[in-house]
Amino acid sequence: MLNQIFDKVRDGERLSLADGLELFESNDLLTIGMMAEHVRWKKHPKPVVSYIIDRNINYTNVCVTECTFCAFYAKVGDDKKSYTLSNDELGRKIQETIDLGGSRILLQGGLNPELGLDYYEDTFRFIKSNYKIWLHALSPEEVVFIAEQSGLKTREVIKRLIDAGLDSIPGGGAEILVDSVRDKIAPKKCTSDEWLGVMYEAQKLGLKTTATMMFGHVEDYQDRLQHMIVVRELQDITGGFTAFIPWTFQPRNTELAENHDNLREKSSAFDYLKTLAISRLMVDNVDSIQVSWVTQGLKIAQIGLRFGADDFGSLMIEENVVSAAGTKHFSGFSLSHITRAIKSAGFEPVQRYI
Ligand code: SF4
Repeated sequence: MLNQIFDKVRDGERLSLADGLELFESNDLLTIGMMAEHVRWKKHPKPVVSYIIDRNINYTNVCVTECTFCAFYAKVGDDKKSYTLSNDELGRKIQETIDLGGSRILLQGGLNPELGLDYYEDTFRFIKSNYKIWLHALSPEEVVFIAEQSGLKTREVIKRLIDAGLDSIPGGGAEILVDSVRDKIAPKKCTSDEWLGVMYEAQKLGLKTTATMMFGHVEDYQDRLQHMIVVRELQDITGGFTAFIPWTFQPRNTELAENHDNLREKSSAFDYLKTLAISRLMVDNVDSIQVSWVTQGLKIAQIGLRFGADDFGSLMIEENVVSAAGTKHFSGFSLSHITRAIKSAGFEPVQRYI
């Protein structure tokens, strides 16, 4: 059944939505994995898997967006749970990251109405003038929010943030880039077009960005494919996405799982590996496909390296969002766990710095 698609893959022909649906509806996981491996070796002929040492710093957990899948945020005025980091706290975390060999911080937070554009500019300037660190910060959702709060266009906000030290933009908040899905899981979040619009503007201004996809909740296969296709279409125009990172919805402690009994079980390893491989096949113009060991654990992540992925993501010195949803794969791993996992899957681990 999959022979024709495999022929297209071997010929370097772009797969259609219908091809993607056929792959998703097939249970021939190993053949799908072989197709993804074929593309992986064509793009990355060396047996090398990259990783980065960085820290996810969530500068605030105050958020007005109230996404139903999020176990991390605190409501405005929730004085017991809410926080916003001071520069001293930020600085300490960054110095620890540098001391542990880290090269980048991923700075993201909730949509906190008390923080204006000047807060971000001051914070970025503080970071860049005191620490030699790559600043991977603010998902499109945050950029849209800051623009709304400040009455500026998103392009102007991005330009000012670049002037203040922004180096690249993480692909968070993409969830599924289909508005009917977003309306169900995060009705207050920016639209798919707004998310893509920020990425377009940032990439046109010279920033590199990544793209994520959170799946395994209310979306169907067609939605996942639509997400992959809109990222692919934008990449055709800008070439600014460096990596595509699919990861599974983590249900514990979330309103979304509370209200949907069938979502309490996490997406299976089978579904994850199939989606990872299909990402490699469909998103044919983004160089790097990243495994998510934080949500899948090291063992499934290792197998993911044979399903099209070429990057192991980050040895995160700190992570708060997935941990808040009860996922503990993260706890206690050191660099040697990551490099050993990569080596024992048959690859040479290579640290990247941004
Ligand atoms: S996912 Fe982000 S935007 Fe949504 S509620 Fe959580 S912190 Fe806010």
